[in-house]
Amino acid sequence: MPTRTELEAATEAVAGDHVIAIDGPAGSGKSTTARAIARRYGLTYVDTGAMYRALTLAARKADVAPEDAGSLVQLLADARLRLEPADPDTRVIWNGHDVSQAIRTPEIDATVSTVAAHRPVRRRMVERQRELARRGGVVMEGRDIGSVVLSLATTKIYLDGSLEARAERRWRQERERGRTIDRADVIRDLEARDRRDQEREEGPLVISPDALVLDTSPWSLERQLDEVALACRINPWLDARVDWDERAAWRAMPGKYRLVYNVFAFVAQMVGQRVVGRPAATVPPGVILASNHISWFDPPLVGGSFRRSPVRTIAKQELFSGTLATALFRWMDAIPINRRGYDADAFDAAREALRQGDNLFMFPEGTRRPPGLLGPVKGGLGILAQETRAPILPVFVRGTCALSFGGNPESPHEVRYGPIVRLHGLDALQARFDRKVVTKRIGDMALAILEELQARSYADRPLTDLERAVQVEARRRIRSKRPFARQD
Ligand code: C5P
Repeated sequence: MPTRTELEAATEAVAGDHVIAIDGPAGSGKSTTARAIARRYGLTYVDTGAMYRALTLAARKADVAPEDAGSLVQLLADARLRLEPADPDTRVIWNGHDVSQAIRTPEIDATVSTVAAHRPVRRRMVERQRELARRGGVVMEGRDIGSVVLSLATTKIYLDGSLEARAERRWRQERERGRTIDRADVIRDLEARDRRDQEREEGPLVISPDALVLDTSPWSLERQLDEVALACRINPWLDARVDWDERAAWRAMPGKYRLVYNVFAFVAQMVGQRVVGRPAATVPPGVILASNHISWFDPPLVGGSFRRSPVRTIAKQELFSGTLATALFRWMDAIPINRRGYDADAFDAAREALRQGDNLFMFPEGTRRPPGLLGPVKGGLGILAQETRAPILPVFVRGTCALSFGGNPESPHEVRYGPIVRLHGLDALQARFDRKVVTKRIGDMALAILEELQARSYADRPLTDLERAVQVEARRRIRSKRPFARQD
């Protein structure tokens, strides 16, 4: 972690395509903070709570019950919803009408989290929110922004605060708006809303493991803004500090690795590999490469594209006896893992490898999955990340199910790298939850990122007929619980 002085000395600006996600419970000062940060860094501010509020108001007016998901989705589908920057609250235009005032009343406060809990409603809101962030340069604020909506945000911040401190703020805010309300009512409302926001199935309020968690309770607003502005510079600062000479690193690698990676890179070229978002010179040594898994060609083809420091594959123990591939695994110092229970030896070996500056390659899904059908994620990545605290480098692999020499246009082979994910929020998570919950949060985060990388890949090169056919077939097999069974 950089020291405060180092960060303060760093440039005042953040890049224009920066994407900042701010989450937190009601009354944590998200809106005020996000608006001020957007102004400071010249970014666009998006208040996602206002979107759910606008839908809640529209439902009230149309006599649609907050529990009626179908009608809510219809209302949203038919609506033109626009957000415009304004002070003190975002201007919200629903079907041409300015509803900015009407969406901020105790009645809306009381029902909005019920409206926001429906899965189909959230799906559509998330689509609209992603659309608003597509070009970058935004500060988006809400409950699920870092964990779901913008899983690849450059900076994720979770603003925390005690219930009392948050209620006090909310009460003052209401008074400034000329409304007198009872403090006890404010506390009750915040408590109920937090509970509903945290307990819902889809897009709940959670701390994303890579979020910077800031407890704002003791801070003045001014201090809060300074702290958040500083936090926005941490990841870019860390990235800039990784002074990694790719060529020197390549030369420093043991000869056997260079030999094998050259062979892999040659094969990759032969099968028309396309590498996207290659993390240039900014990968620190000792990261966990977390990749989806389609075929046994994934590790060599990713390995052939990485070419900096040794990548040690973590593979199931069963692969370490017998075949020719096994010999290669052993020679390349792969780490065998017993997938039943906790394998202390494997974790020791992994920690040691990272300490030496080697990287680990693993499949968070634990097994092969058909193309286009990511997840579910197993516990390995979350356990390993907690054990080693190493940064994670997400990698999305495509096309390895039907490779052919010269490239197969029906199964385009791609290796798409995500950004380096640092687990800033780990301490806060571990202080609140047991290991299993934290493990799951890390897995959910990795899956959300892989899904976003996949969506970007499909946006660049749409799913082909062959890929679609493989998916349909795989779904059929999954239903019969044999995803990779041979055709009978
Ligand atoms: O942030 P604000 O208090 O205006 O949000 C109102 C409500 O909208 C929240 O209590 C929550 O139920 C919902 N919301 C959400 N997801 C978001 C933003 C807000 O569920 N991203």
